[in-house]
Amino acid sequence: MPGIEFFGEEERRQVMDVLDTGVMFRYNHDAERKGHWKALEFEKSVADFVGAKYAHSVSSGSTAVATALAACGVGYGDEVIVPPFTYIATIEAVLWVGAIPVFAEIDETLNLSPEGIQAVISPKTKAVLLVQMCGAMAKMEEIVQVCQANNVMLIEDSAQALGASYKGKFAGLWGRMGCYSFDFFKITTCGEGGVVVTDDEQLYHNADMFSDHGHDHVGNNRGAEKHPVLGINFRIGEFNAAIGLAQMHKIKQFIEIQRKNKDAMVDALNQSRLVEFRHIPDESGDSATFLSFFLPDEATARLVVDEMKAQGLDAFQYWYDNNYHYIKNWDHLTGLKTLNPMPIETQERPQDWSNIRSYVPKSDNLISRLISLQVKIGWTEEQLKERCAKLTKVMETVGKKISIPA
Ligand SMILES: *Cc1c(COP(=O)(O)O)cnc(C)c1O
Repeated sequence: MPGIEFFGEEERRQVMDVLDTGVMFRYNHDAERKGHWKALEFEKSVADFVGAKYAHSVSSGSTAVATALAACGVGYGDEVIVPPFTYIATIEAVLWVGAIPVFAEIDETLNLSPEGIQAVISPKTKAVLLVQMCGAMAKMEEIVQVCQANNVMLIEDSAQALGASYKGKFAGLWGRMGCYSFDFFKITTCGEGGVVVTDDEQLYHNADMFSDHGHDHVGNNRGAEKHPVLGINFRIGEFNAAIGLAQMHKIKQFIEIQRKNKDAMVDALNQSRLVEFRHIPDESGDSATFLSFFLPDEATARLVVDEMKAQGLDAFQYWYDNNYHYIKNWDHLTGLKTLNPMPIETQERPQDWSNIRSYVPKSDNLISRLISLQVKIGWTEEQLKERCAKLTKVMETVGKKISIPA
């Protein structure tokens, strides 16, 4: 899954360009930088890859989401619909711009469902922040429809889904803005970094200004430029962008390997009647960073987890217990543990935060039955074969166990 598995000479060469000039800042310094514009080139490589008109890189995926929200005018008092299965960064970004996260149900796609979104829309809803979890898409056409019918904007946190597509259109291009992460664990990495994409020139300009203190970046003189709005420093540095550029040269290859490795594991699991694969509305557009499947119930899922451990299998997630990606274990959120006051409560939308998980019973059931296998790109044929054999064995063993009356 992570680009860090294929890391080396190309990344080194790109970074050396920056070391040669010492210009680590992404703007200006035209004379000293000897033609090296790593952030600009990185942005172009992402825009070209997904087919976006504009891309702007920032310091992380989290700041990309905050930048997209700000660029789209989402802020104080607005409600933003979010999924309970994501990385907490999605929720933090909403809070950070002063908006209120409102959780909606996911479905078997592991992403927000159109009905789930519809059920929580209120007059205060400004945006749906759709997350494409584990590298695959939601029911995109229906979700776009729900957003349009309710006059709510769609923004995509595609942090985990660079390279995923639905009917040929990439994650990140479906709403007003899309966001990608390039942190250490994502399909392509630059250490720390993020990118926002859009087809709207004004939104692009907004993102470019917001992430650099509101500077307009017009002309070449840092001292003379205007700052039409207030912003913050979410800039990416040239070193990080250089690494991201090297990784983007390899992303097609990464996805190809992932798809091949995923297919092998699908075959290994397919023989078990206990396995129900995640619903992917367009299978051909799966970036294949994970292979996710449901078991009939939580107890069986736990049996499978135990058996996978017993077989010495690594690189899998049982999200229901994992500390990071599901609302069940977000004690900091449900306990409203913030260092500073946050406008998380409004009178129009009183939410019982300590009990917020009970708002999404369908999601809870799905996650309790879900296991995801990571798909690595560095596995040898031998390792992959061994893994597949173990998976088949795990399911056989569990199948036998549960058909024996207790
Ligand atoms: C990784 C991730 C982020 C945050 O990205 P960082 O680059 O780590 O800040 C946001 N949303 C989702 C869904 C993610 O998986």
